[in-house]
Amino acid sequence: MDLGIKGRTALVCAASKGLGYGCAEALAREGVNLVINARSGGPLEAAADRLRALGVAVTTVAADVTTDEGRDALLAACPAPDILVNNAGGPPPGLWSDWGRAEWQAAVEANMLTPIFLMTAILPGMVAKRWGRVVNITSQSVKGPIPQLGLSNAARAGLTGFVAGTSRQVAQYGVTVNNLLPGSHDTDRIVALEEGIAKAQNISRAEAGEQRRAAIPAKRYGTIEEFGAACAFLCSAHAGFIVGQNILLDGGATNVTL
Ligand code: NAP
Repeated sequence: MDLGIKGRTALVCAASKGLGYGCAEALAREGVNLVINARSGGPLEAAADRLRALGVAVTTVAADVTTDEGRDALLAACPAPDILVNNAGGPPPGLWSDWGRAEWQAAVEANMLTPIFLMTAILPGMVAKRWGRVVNITSQSVKGPIPQLGLSNAARAGLTGFVAGTSRQVAQYGVTVNNLLPGSHDTDRIVALEEGIAKAQNISRAEAGEQRRAAIPAKRYGTIEEFGAACAFLCSAHAGFIVGQNILLDGGATNVTL
C-alpha cells in the first residue's frame, strides 16, 4: 500500500535507536524526509547515515528533548513538520513509595510536558496547512498499570488526557493526534528491565527474558519494525479518520476487553 506521504517532513524525537528509530525508518521507507534527535551525537549520526541510505534527507539535532533548550534547538531545525513523533526515555522503575518531588518532576517533564510543549508549538502550523499527523509513543501502562513503573503510569496518563481533548479540537483541520502504546519490544530499554528482574529474583538475564516472554500471549517481544509500520500507517494519508486513539502494540499482554 502506498501510504501517500512521500516528500513530507517528519520530526522524530529520541530516534537514534529503539522504537523512535523504528518509526523513523518506516517513515523513511515511505519517502518521508526526517529530522531526528537523541542526546548522544555518535549513535545519532550513525542512525542518520542508515536512514539516508534509504534515499531521504535527514537532519540531526543532538539535544535533550526534555529540556527547553533541547526543544528550542529541535524547533529551530524543524519549525513546521508535517509529522511529529513524540518520544523520550522512560522513567526508572521502583515502588510507589520511592519517589519524591524531584523524581515526579522529572517524569512529568519527560513523559507528559515534553510532548505537550512540542504539540503546542507545532500544531498551529499543521492547522494552518490543514494537514498534520502527531503520534505520541506512550506505554501499555496507560491501559493497565505496571506495578514497578508508577512514574510512567501516572505521567503518561496525564499526556493521554491532553491528547483526548486536543485531538478532537484539531481534527476538523485535517490534523490527527494519536498515541501508540508499546508493550514489551526488543530494545535496550527491555534489556535494562530484564537486568532489574534478574537482580531482584537472583536469576540470569536470559531466565528473566524467558519469564517475561512467557507472560505475553504472542510468546515473544515485539520488533521495532512492527512498531514503526504501525506508526507510519497512523501518519499516512489513509489514517485521517483515526482521531485521539490509544493503540496497544503488546502481543495481547494487557488483559482488557476494550
Ligand atoms: P531505547 O531503545 O533505550 O531508545 C531510547 C532512544 O531515545 C535513544 O535513541 C536515546 O538516545 C533517546 N533518548 C532517550 N532520552 C532522550 C532525551 N532525553 N532526549 C533525546 N533523546 C533521548 O528505548 P525504547 O525501548 O525505544 O523506548 C522508547 C520509549 O518507549 C520510552 O519512553 C520507553 O519507556 C517507552 N516504552 C518502551 C517499551 C519497550 O518495550 N521498549 C515499552 C513501553 C514503553 P540517547 O540516549 O543518545 O539520548
